[in-house]
Amino acid sequence: MLAPVAVFGRSHRVTGGRQPRGVDAARLANPAWVEEVEEIRHRCPDDEAGLRHAITFAHENVLHGTGGPFGAVVVDADSGEVVSVGVNGVERLHDSVAHAEIVALVAAEARLGSYSLSSGALRYTLYSSCEPCAMCLGAILWSGISRVVYAARREDAEAIGFDEGPVFPGSHEYLAARGIAVEPGPLREEAAAVMRRYVEQGGTIYNASPARR
Ligand SMILES: [Zn+2]
Repeated sequence: MLAPVAVFGRSHRVTGGRQPRGVDAARLANPAWVEEVEEIRHRCPDDEAGLRHAITFAHENVLHGTGGPFGAVVVDADSGEVVSVGVNGVERLHDSVAHAEIVALVAAEARLGSYSLSSGALRYTLYSSCEPCAMCLGAILWSGISRVVYAARREDAEAIGFDEGPVFPGSHEYLAARGIAVEPGPLREEAAAVMRRYVEQGGTIYNASPARR
């Protein structure tokens, strides 16, 4: 008989048969199609190109039905090389932290063999199709990345019911004081259009804002 697992005072039964426990049960991995997208091999010489990449992966994630309408890429700030890609996998991976930014940061750190993206001589930029939520701002701080640029704004995500959590003006100021620039960039409407398409095709608004629950 499967043992009940207590989560926040409620009793949940483990389902899905013999799933591994602990670390092997959770893998922040992209869907296989990500490697097939041509743009992954293209450099990003400027902010617009980086954001266009992030939005392309967000759009493909919606078209493939593999997650929320969010994409992110980590780019070598000097060469423009795409170091890693992340697409939202919250539903697909059954993982509340599988936001595009975190998947991209985890993949970049694994590829570079370091828990800190500021440990070497190179500097990296995270391009995100949407303004980072409270959780991702925390991950951004610890990742050591030096710059973040986003397309869609917080208001665009909230307009379709997503919740950005406790992000305050001071949140960005705190990161700036630690040498991490978090900046709005171009292509806001293109990124917001991907989010609207997700809603139109019936995508789930997980962790919705309290007003939508
Ligand atoms: Zn996030």
